[in-house]
Amino acid sequence: MKKSGISILLAVITLAVAGCQQTQVKPSGEVFLPPAAAGGMVTIEDLARQLGLKVAEKDSTYYTLKNSGNTVLIFTFPNGQYFVNGKVIGQVGRVEESNGRVLVSQFLVSQIRSAMNAYAPLPPTQYPARKNLAGCVVIDAGHGGKDPGAIGRNGAYEKSINLAIAKNLKNLLEQRGLTVVMTRSSDRFVDLDERADIANRNNAKLFVSIHSNARDDSSMRGFTVYVSRSPSGRSETVAESILRSMSGTGLENQGMGRADYRVLVGTRCPAVLVEVGYLSNSHEASLLIGSGFQNRIAQAIADGICDAF
Ligand SMILES: [Zn+2]
Repeated sequence: MKKSGISILLAVITLAVAGCQQTQVKPSGEVFLPPAAAGGMVTIEDLARQLGLKVAEKDSTYYTLKNSGNTVLIFTFPNGQYFVNGKVIGQVGRVEESNGRVLVSQFLVSQIRSAMNAYAPLPPTQYPARKNLAGCVVIDAGHGGKDPGAIGRNGAYEKSINLAIAKNLKNLLEQRGLTVVMTRSSDRFVDLDERADIANRNNAKLFVSIHSNARDDSSMRGFTVYVSRSPSGRSETVAESILRSMSGTGLENQGMGRADYRVLVGTRCPAVLVEVGYLSNSHEASLLIGSGFQNRIAQAIADGICDAF
């Protein structure tokens, strides 16, 4: 009894002494520098810990941090912005890299904390089957097979990015009780008129075509939602709704475009074509190849569709 009492006392003293040291050593043995030692910079992992968040997704260009309700998105490229619960808060500013860790200013912690209070997470959305959208949604992944579409600055094929986003979108809409038909669900060529016919044959309530943009001017960026030149009011409502929800992805909103694309004029139902971003822009090309970002885009399009109906 007495012996174990002494052991506990010794353990407490040891912990107290360890706690007084300037540099903490994590259980893994990794040395953990306090933020001051890095000149007011903090690793994104430590920033997350200070805010009670966990790193949910990351790649070379962004981090997504989450807890039960909040979502924080931090872009780590020059002039990247950071978002709290879908709202843009500001620019990330200085970004450094050390030992494979990305560091940002400690200042962001207080900014994100007050934004988390100001923009409290939305209550979990319930998605009942939508009466106005009782028919199916046709999702059209642009290009495919012998037609690669645009080829990104990083070598990515538009047809593959479109298909990945389309598949995510299908799953998300099905989770919300909608019936989905895909014009293609593999890497195959489908004629443009056939794509529109698929929507008409299925008596679709909505046709959504997914594309990625490219131009000679590599500075062009952002997303656009196209409708035909003489669109139905429904098409415009859906386009506006998708533009609104996609603003939460961190890409730039380039507004609604009008063009008589064959798939837009050949369909009898409301029809939109989403250009999700520019493969000719190196930042956007690197974002668009990431599966986490593809899912983020699909989520925004799904939200936009559901908000419109
Ligand atoms: Zn395309």
